[in-house]
Amino acid sequence: MTDTIRPGGLWVYCERGREGIRPVAFELLGQAARLARAMNSAVTAVLVGGAAEAAFLGRYGADAALCVDCDCPDELAQTDELAALVNKYRPEALLIGATAFGRSLAPRLAARLNTGLTADCTGLAIDPDTGLLLQTRPAFGGNLMATIVCPDRRPQMATVRPKVFRAPLPDETRLCPVVVERPVSSGGAVELIQRIAAGSEINIGEADVLVSVGQGIGGAENIALAEALAKRLGGALSASRPLVDAGILPYARQVGQTGKTVSPRLYIALGISGAIQHMAGVAAQTIVAVNTDPDAPIFQYAHYAVRCECGAFLREALEALRNGEWGMGNGEY
Ligand SMILES: Cc1cc2nc3c(=O)[nH]c(=O)nc-3n(C[C@H](O)[C@H](O)[C@H](O)COP(=O)(O)OP(=O)(O)OC[C@H]3O[C@@H](n4cnc5c(N)ncnc54)[C@H](O)[C@@H]3O)c2cc1C
Repeated sequence: MTDTIRPGGLWVYCERGREGIRPVAFELLGQAARLARAMNSAVTAVLVGGAAEAAFLGRYGADAALCVDCDCPDELAQTDELAALVNKYRPEALLIGATAFGRSLAPRLAARLNTGLTADCTGLAIDPDTGLLLQTRPAFGGNLMATIVCPDRRPQMATVRPKVFRAPLPDETRLCPVVVERPVSSGGAVELIQRIAAGSEINIGEADVLVSVGQGIGGAENIALAEALAKRLGGALSASRPLVDAGILPYARQVGQTGKTVSPRLYIALGISGAIQHMAGVAAQTIVAVNTDPDAPIFQYAHYAVRCECGAFLREALEALRNGEWGMGNGEY
């Protein structure tokens, strides 16, 4: 046992992809640093492999990094490794990004450790009285927000979807100490035969501007105009679930509780009512809502409310852009 990693800390699992550590790890480290202050605790970044890049995680808020010296790509072997680390160092809480891999890893690990797991949290805080991790997520079809605690078992475990928290600006001067552990597993039960890259489908989670269409968009012609507007603004087209369910747009474009969480600078919602399940996935800096119904719930979230028919709005917006009447190029819309 090393003194660098003390029992009772707050851990963040840092998933590694082919391009390095996945950005959700930075988002979680930033949030963990805020929580750790309230818990009077320390943040440990946990990695399987990647010891060379571990010290840099200090820039995002890690006080130390704990790294298993192996390259086990599958979640079965990683469950073995992480369970061994948890049993050795006894963290208070463990946060995992709800990526495809994280969603497979977290429940296996929770079951192995005989503890609870709250999936897809949209909020994390510390109870000032008990010191417990308050894990908030939509429940009952998104109709209410439930705050869940895990008072008896340890670690308290939660997954959080990418983009729910903003990554902190890295502090380039800050590196953290790295503790390297030997692997306990002999490789895992899954043999990786081939990697097939996903198609070139755009990642709406990364877009700076999203033009999002809902059931009120009014047909293919207006969807084409919405896509043109998205392109003109350097962004991407996204959608509410009914358009995806109807096969009009692919699932990769869906925003919301059962789609993607997005955090663009600008979110233009066209003919979207603002159901809680949709808004659960919208963490935009500025929301412009276009809707004909003055009582549409989306207007409660919108920074700019446009009471107008989608087609008319789109034609006018594109015309204004063509004429240079819409402030562009300096970050203003
Ligand atoms: C468990 C569960 C998970 C869900 N997950 C998601 C999810 O991930 N994402 C998601 O989006 N939904 C999700 N839903 C569905 C969600 O509850 C709503 O049904 C859905 O978001 C509504 O989509 P919408 O706003 O496009 O359609 P509607 O609710 O039908 O709204 C259409 C809007 O368009 C307006 N309108 C109509 N004509 C025009 C016009 N010509 N111009 C301008 N405005 C017009 C209307 O006034 C209305 O406000 C989920 C539901 C459940 C139960």
